[in-house]
Amino acid sequence: MGLRFEIVAEDTTTGARAGLLHTPHGVVETPVFMPVGTAGTVKGMTQAQLEELGVQILLANTYHLYLRPGHEIIRELGGLHRFMGWPRAILTDSGGFQVMSLKSLGRVTEDGVWFKSHLDGSSHFLSPERAVEVQLALGADIIMTLDECVEYPSSHEAIHRAVKLTGRWAGRAKEKLSAISSQRSASEEPPSPQSPAPSPQQSAIGNRQSSIPAPALFGIVQGGVDRDLRRESAEGLLELDFEGYALGGLSVGEPKAEMYEVAEYTARLLPRNRPRYLMGVGTPEDLVECVARGIDMFDCVMPTRNARNGCVFTSQGKVIIKNTKYARDESPLDPACECPVCRRYSRSYIRHLLVAGEMLGAILTTQHNLHFYIDRMRKIRQSLLFGAFAEFHSRVRAEP
Ligand SMILES: [Zn+2]
Repeated sequence: MGLRFEIVAEDTTTGARAGLLHTPHGVVETPVFMPVGTAGTVKGMTQAQLEELGVQILLANTYHLYLRPGHEIIRELGGLHRFMGWPRAILTDSGGFQVMSLKSLGRVTEDGVWFKSHLDGSSHFLSPERAVEVQLALGADIIMTLDECVEYPSSHEAIHRAVKLTGRWAGRAKEKLSAISSQRSASEEPPSPQSPAPSPQQSAIGNRQSSIPAPALFGIVQGGVDRDLRRESAEGLLELDFEGYALGGLSVGEPKAEMYEVAEYTARLLPRNRPRYLMGVGTPEDLVECVARGIDMFDCVMPTRNARNGCVFTSQGKVIIKNTKYARDESPLDPACECPVCRRYSRSYIRHLLVAGEMLGAILTTQHNLHFYIDRMRKIRQSLLFGAFAEFHSRVRAEP
């Protein structure tokens, strides 16, 4: 098993826990927020800046990398870690969510999904097996099974159908990964003593010649906001025994209170000793609320996408930095923030950059927002380690 999950602290009054996720590319401290590196880049950030920020794991989108530059090119170049110069952990999604949400969808069949490329309109087919193959070519540490996500709201019948299909696809993905892993270990040769030692840089990022260890495969629980369907979906996946479990199909338009309740209900159905990943969530408040409900991992485009639109997260709530009232504001984006952006630049200057369409504007707001998210997770984790999560939780609830 390439992944080991260790719980190091648990809150006594909520479901919150702090853990360590041991991956082939380093230890990830949980609860964790994974910045979204859609096309092998977190827009506006260099990999060195992400490391300085303390990012331990990134999410990359299989759909985008499959279409461009193509997973075969990335495989030939030694995998995504080496290709993008990122020595730490990577999680890839299955591509299903993009296929089903980017209006590129042709049709869903028992076998898989037909879709059209948003780049050139060409037709492609993604099956559970194919999604595993593509993610293996990318070489991520954690990969996801192909699932069917339905819109909110959907009929009970449509959600039930998606739960059943997602369960069958999860089984096929697991079989495919086992088949490839046993093929690989059978054909693996012991390293030749004559082969030159890799440079430190190469061994950190992954040597092209060395075989990439089999990734951990996560199953995805579906079921909309229907408790019975969530249970049915979770039970089916538990029989297959995945290395981690994701909660899909949440934060898709349902009321927030409902999202929290379903996340809590679903987390309780999952084994204590496996990581739980809530996909596509959320706001800074969501992170705290969902950690309290037993979630360990999150990803969301919100901090980076909002940053590019001039919306920054601060200790006093959201700030729309393009507003005229900041034209002469010499204070930093967030007076309570210690990020490199807040230590050097004023609201007035960053507003000017964004209004003038200067690329540095989005770079600075992105850096600040990601710092805000990573810092929040660090504080959540610290509070868990010191037995002070409840206090932290109520303080966040009282924030503007
Ligand atoms: Zn800042």
